[in-house]
Amino acid sequence: MINVTIWNEYRHEKAEEKARILYPDGIHGYIAGFLGKQPDINVRLAALDDPENGLPQSVIDETDVMLWWGHMSHEEVLDTVVQRVTDAVWRGMGFIALHSAHFSKPFRALMGTSCSLKWRDGAKERLWRVNPAHPIARGIPEHFELPNEEMYGEFFDIPNPDSVIFLGWFNGGEVFRSGCAFSRGHGKVFYFQPGHETNPTYHNEYIQRIILNAVRWAKPEGKIGEITCPETPPLES
Ligand code: ZN
Repeated sequence: MINVTIWNEYRHEKAEEKARILYPDGIHGYIAGFLGKQPDINVRLAALDDPENGLPQSVIDETDVMLWWGHMSHEEVLDTVVQRVTDAVWRGMGFIALHSAHFSKPFRALMGTSCSLKWRDGAKERLWRVNPAHPIARGIPEHFELPNEEMYGEFFDIPNPDSVIFLGWFNGGEVFRSGCAFSRGHGKVFYFQPGHETNPTYHNEYIQRIILNAVRWAKPEGKIGEITCPETPPLES
């Protein structure tokens, strides 16, 4: 079984009617709905306003793959929680940053760059599968369209990914590295751009398949214990 924790800021869906209609139980609740149907996945939900942002060490220790959606309140995430998340990735936990999580504290910490980009609401996006052999691209056609999505455009200030799996084209002419895979320490990291809160992006069958594929890809092969930096005696005298 893969133990998945879906973390959501969970503010837009309470404050904005358009987001609430699309995601009445929150974006995290909606994603849990389709991931939780899989026989190999256990889901747990966590949100910003939960105690310790929903991520005490005990939850992180039981998580194989964490999904993260945040937007308007990145700065409210506790630095102690960010440290726990990044430590867990270094030790093997998978981490999937969704949409505006490009600016989340844990993703920026894992990338080590600004992660800035260009944006504009109200665009059509065509997603191109540019690495058809990658496990996250399994079952996805060469291209598909999202009639309404927020434009995220280059330059996206990330380190060079290990693999760019999806490239987004927008009807304003911009392009974006929309699906990028990285490794950090012993953990796998996937960034996936579509998913603005007032669009039905997570209702799309291909978006759901990509997220499912990403969870299975990011599952740790094994985790290492606490990271220490010990002084050690020699083995030979
Ligand atoms: Zn957005």
